[in-house]
Amino acid sequence: MTDTHQDFGEQFVRLALEIDKHLPGYVDAYFGPEDWKAQVQQDGKQPLSDLTDQINQLAKEISQADGLDAQRRDYLDRHLTAMRMSVRVLSGEKVSLADEAEALYDVRPEWQEEANFEEAHKLLEEVLPSEGSLRERMLAWKKSLEIPVEKAKELLPIIIKKLRTLTDQKFKLPEGESFTVEFVSDQPWSAYNWYLGNSKSRIDINTDIPMRVSSLPDLIAHEGYPGHHTDLSIKEQKLVDELRYYEFTVALLKAPSAVIAEGIATSALETALTDEEREEWLREEILPYAGMSHIDPKRILAVSKAGRKMSRVSGNAAFMLHDQGKSEEEIIQYLQRYNLSSEKEARQTIRFISNPLDRSYTFNYDVGYDLLEELFQGVDRDIYFKRLIEEPVTPSQIRQWIQNERHLN
Ligand SMILES: [Zn+2]
Repeated sequence: MTDTHQDFGEQFVRLALEIDKHLPGYVDAYFGPEDWKAQVQQDGKQPLSDLTDQINQLAKEISQADGLDAQRRDYLDRHLTAMRMSVRVLSGEKVSLADEAEALYDVRPEWQEEANFEEAHKLLEEVLPSEGSLRERMLAWKKSLEIPVEKAKELLPIIIKKLRTLTDQKFKLPEGESFTVEFVSDQPWSAYNWYLGNSKSRIDINTDIPMRVSSLPDLIAHEGYPGHHTDLSIKEQKLVDELRYYEFTVALLKAPSAVIAEGIATSALETALTDEEREEWLREEILPYAGMSHIDPKRILAVSKAGRKMSRVSGNAAFMLHDQGKSEEEIIQYLQRYNLSSEKEARQTIRFISNPLDRSYTFNYDVGYDLLEELFQGVDRDIYFKRLIEEPVTPSQIRQWIQNERHLN
């Protein structure tokens, strides 16, 4: 007989819902039993010190439990560490950004040397058409890829269909899963997957940010197939429906699972397609459909690879804003210089990192991507990607897998 320790999941969920009353949005998605949520919402807020006691008590029970799956134990334990930090911050304790991120995400973010961004600039110098400063050329390049929202709406079903088929072949999607796409505005993010439970999601796309033909496949891979929607619907099926691990009925943003979720999402397109396949898809189908056959898909891929090196600039911006007391104007200049952003894009980045829920979230995209890239080196990528979407995983668990693989080879 297997002991599934169902009550650990329930206690975990109730704690998360309690913290959400102090910090609305703490629970990004909940799709567990309705009555747990209703019961928690009926009562007033519990004092933060009581929540800390309950977190500590649950952590103790978990550490002493017999027969608990090791990965599940690690997941619960590290998520309770994250909860403890959230309660400390809510109590008004001043914590450095790196300390906060380490406790929340099980990864310590670091300041990135500007030399890394300059290296990306060198790559861009080679691939972008010459005329004007590099930043002007980058902005002109991005502008040349813009398409009207109406065109994006026509293209999306084509992109969704292909990525869904590829994802199903590789990872077997749950029966009856699907998502809808909505167009919204005035949001700090460019797109968002809202997981609704029962294998359903709603993906919101922010139309304040120009639609680019080159970013649509990445957007759908990130939010949908095989990114967030795939990850959450398969975890619901495998971990909740089959194993009754109820802690997987809450999606939390300030937790190690967010690093895994963003790692999966940022490497989703590369998991679905090789560079050659992606280039061919752009050349044969997407660009002609958008009436943009004159654009070289090779250049799209080269710019996007260089862009990945530059994306870490936003982590530095978070350090400047929260730890170094730099002014908004200084940070905008910095983003324009090193990320080659427009002023509007730089302001959008500041808006994202200023939000208290997101202040350390910005690191997750890059640390998640880097951690998974390290894991995928020299192993069957699909086997590990499947484990990431089917099992309880934390960054520590991934570091352990990497060590085991190195030991074997
Ligand atoms: Zn994401």
